[in-house]
Amino acid sequence: CFCELQGSIEDCECEVDTVDNFNNVKIYPRLRSLLVKNYFRYFKVNLKKKCPFWEDDSRCAIRYCSVQSCQADDIPVGIKGEAKKKSTSDTFASESMCHINKNSESSCGISRQCQCENSEQSAPSKIDRMQCGGPNDLDYLNTTLSAKIVKEMELWTAHDNALENFCILDEDDKDSEYVDLLLNPERYTGYAGKSAERVWRSIYIENCFQTYSWEKPSFFKLDNMCLEERVFYRCISGLHASINIHLSANYLLSDPNKPSLVEPNGQWGMNLKEFERRFNPSTTNGKGPDWLRNLYFLYLLELRAIEKAAPLLENEKFYTGNEKEDWDTIMAVKDLLKTIKQFPSHFDESTMFIGDANKKNLKNEFRQHFRNVSRIMDCVGCDKCKLWGKLQTQGLGTALKVLFSTENRTAENLKLQRNEIVSLVNAFGRLSNSIYKLDDFREMQKK
Ligand code: FAD
Repeated sequence: CFCELQGSIEDCECEVDTVDNFNNVKIYPRLRSLLVKNYFRYFKVNLKKKCPFWEDDSRCAIRYCSVQSCQADDIPVGIKGEAKKKSTSDTFASESMCHINKNSESSCGISRQCQCENSEQSAPSKIDRMQCGGPNDLDYLNTTLSAKIVKEMELWTAHDNALENFCILDEDDKDSEYVDLLLNPERYTGYAGKSAERVWRSIYIENCFQTYSWEKPSFFKLDNMCLEERVFYRCISGLHASINIHLSANYLLSDPNKPSLVEPNGQWGMNLKEFERRFNPSTTNGKGPDWLRNLYFLYLLELRAIEKAAPLLENEKFYTGNEKEDWDTIMAVKDLLKTIKQFPSHFDESTMFIGDANKKNLKNEFRQHFRNVSRIMDCVGCDKCKLWGKLQTQGLGTALKVLFSTENRTAENLKLQRNEIVSLVNAFGRLSNSIYKLDDFREMQKK
């Protein structure tokens, strides 16, 4: 049985069996109940961004490709007005040396007053005096200058954060919209052919460090790669395997053009044949089982990232505006983190990017390559696939940021935006679901 994987997972020193048991019994049920909570359910994404690499060549024809967007009323008030909450993802201003008093109106019409604790920074410049005029405007001048400093520091912080990111984030794009993930499950859409192939091809060929033979993937030898390159490849391949497991496990079983009265929207379920076609060694040049092992590798990498981000997640308020729901979410996350900490052999990121200058450069290259992967997601020609592709690459990008951007900082003072937290936990949820479904496919094969 080809999906009966055995032995330890390469570059991780952890047995497949250990992951199966831990995931299916402890992690999967916890994530299932956590991910339906409002905080994790709404993801902000820009599905309208143009593909930066080539002209969009196809649109998915079948209706299951479309994404249902949210009405403004559906989104919890606390998520819409995120800046009001007090949490790790607070705006930079709350930590800056100035206190912003949003309600005070200054004489020059500025609606936000900033009182600086540091008197040096509040000295008004001549130009400011001239622009504002009037001897009573000294307070205002302090305000203006301090506000400028805050603004500039915000920009620098955003700039520094952006440099650290492994992903291009959509959150602040004007075209970004909230999507209800529960209304738009990841499943078979029929997206295939040239467009899908081009996306996968450019991810593997253009972004993997070694020449990847698309036509003959069996010639691709991981043995010649260094650890960091192998990790990169395994992440992409694990993500690809997870997506293909989902579409096989949630396949359209009845004809979409002839929906029955019983199943007007089609009937969805597990398709063993589809799964076997995609992973059987005889149809994949012997590579299918390796791709499944890469799924386990990626699972362990994201598991470790969540463990490392635990101090941040334990302090997060998961604010949606509904006290009871927020409390339940806090408790559910704490319970999940407690369980994750019990896992015996976590992925060890400390062995990566250490050594000579070449290795340090490799980290920047790694980050750049992954940012490209996140941009390629704008070229996916099926909105539903793009939504989940973006969410999962952003989740993986966040995991990489947690693992590798904390060189000069501890994980305790790492900052993540709400969308990064949502994508990290949901992306891990997808991998957990894939490992669970793999077990179902094994059972079906046995029968
Ligand atoms: P593909 O999956 O397109 O693979 C192309 C080639 O890549 C294979 O021939 C093989 O040589 C190699 N390969 C395959 N798997 C791996 C792996 N794990 N590791 C390394 N190499 C591998 N379709 C849906 O129905 N629903 C979705 O939600 C969905 N989401 C998608 C998201 C993205 C970002 C992309 C790019 C595609 C998505 N698709 C989705 C399409 C789906 O992934 C396949 O591309 C499509 O079903 C066509 O499959 P295929 O058999 O041609 O092989």
